[in-house]
Amino acid sequence: MDHFQYREGRLHAEDVDIEYIAESVGTPFYCYSTATLERHFKAYVDAFASLDATICYAVKANSNIAVISTLSRLGAGADVVSCGELTRALRGGVPANKIVFSGVGKSREEIAAALEAGVLQINVESEPELELINDIAVSQNKRAPIAIRINPDVDAKTHEKITTGLSENKFGIEWTQAHAVFAKAASLPGIEVVGIAVHIGSQLTDLEPYRHAYTRLRDLVAMLCADGHKIARLDLGGGLGIPYGDGEIPADLPTPRDYADVVQSAVGDLQIPLIFEPGRSIAGNAGILVTRILYIKEGATRTFAVVDAAMNDLLRPTLYNAYHDIVPVKQASPGAALKEIDVVGPICETGDTFGVQRQLPSFAAGDLLAIRTAGAYGAVMASTYNSRPLVPEVLVNKSSFDVIRKRWDVDQMIGLEAIPDWFDKPSEG
Ligand SMILES: *Cc1c(COP(=O)(O)O)cnc(C)c1O
Repeated sequence: MDHFQYREGRLHAEDVDIEYIAESVGTPFYCYSTATLERHFKAYVDAFASLDATICYAVKANSNIAVISTLSRLGAGADVVSCGELTRALRGGVPANKIVFSGVGKSREEIAAALEAGVLQINVESEPELELINDIAVSQNKRAPIAIRINPDVDAKTHEKITTGLSENKFGIEWTQAHAVFAKAASLPGIEVVGIAVHIGSQLTDLEPYRHAYTRLRDLVAMLCADGHKIARLDLGGGLGIPYGDGEIPADLPTPRDYADVVQSAVGDLQIPLIFEPGRSIAGNAGILVTRILYIKEGATRTFAVVDAAMNDLLRPTLYNAYHDIVPVKQASPGAALKEIDVVGPICETGDTFGVQRQLPSFAAGDLLAIRTAGAYGAVMASTYNSRPLVPEVLVNKSSFDVIRKRWDVDQMIGLEAIPDWFDKPSEG
């Protein structure tokens, strides 16, 4: 459930009228709901209450520092994948000892920064990375707390671009090499092995791949303990799917509680502290992208609503063929005739399409639409393609809203660019 509902026919985020925000900040803009973020986070806390679990919100899903702050105030840790995200997590109030540093290609600078900050653990994805972390830790006179990310070779049966747990994927250390890599890690003076990590993919709509992966993990823990390693923590990753409103995703999606049952039965009796890294399932339904219709264009076979948002603002439909529900901000009167409409952006790419043949009421230019479930992998994936400045992000809390990222202006967008000295510079005039 989310907190974007109609009241007297007008879409609200909590107690705030979306049209009112649009008039204040202009379109397009992202709008997030505090109550929804909190509700989703608490669903994890409640589901895992009987397990010793830390929820490390995957910052890459939505990295605005106001979103991170909303969650950190409830006790969230963070899963970060870059120096930028590390800085955001710290600014958002997440204590360093609740931050996991993940990522398949950490640079020397990132590893050094993670160690300097004193993060809870660095999740290691390869032997060369392990060696580099050791070198950096030794030079800092530290022992780096690391977990080794194992690729359990389990098919998450999700979109091919977001499945990560197959041996053909670039993620983690091969299952079969775990024994050797743990032995090596234990021999390095700058390394303290604290655990094992797995993350098999994103937008999982079925729990069986988790059950499979965690059962394998359990066997691995037994083997590593027999080898004499101490496994202090298990990081079970993120990836729980959410409904995007299309018919294909089952209505009875697993909840955090269902997920917790699987975890409990697979690894609960090991009594090892757990880490979870949910991203999408916390932020996804907590955000919408609001856009205004520029033109209604009657094509030969289709009706197009050309909107002022584009693929640079929300890339998921283009990148993953993702379905996002699209709704009018002003509800049509009951019984109003529906029409088949393609909702498209203004960019010269066929992929710049938010919805094809959607059943929607008749619109006029100037009407507002909300593209739902845009809170995760939305604003964070935006670009300035077509030299379109990044759009604002707004956070609603009950009857208040605040702009948590301002709209860029054109000068901010091009201000870091320079014309080389060897050109005659155009006169500044
Ligand atoms: C992307 C990612 C997550 C979060 O995945 P969601 O599908 O957003 O829950 C967690 N852990 C790792 C290592 C990731 O790469």
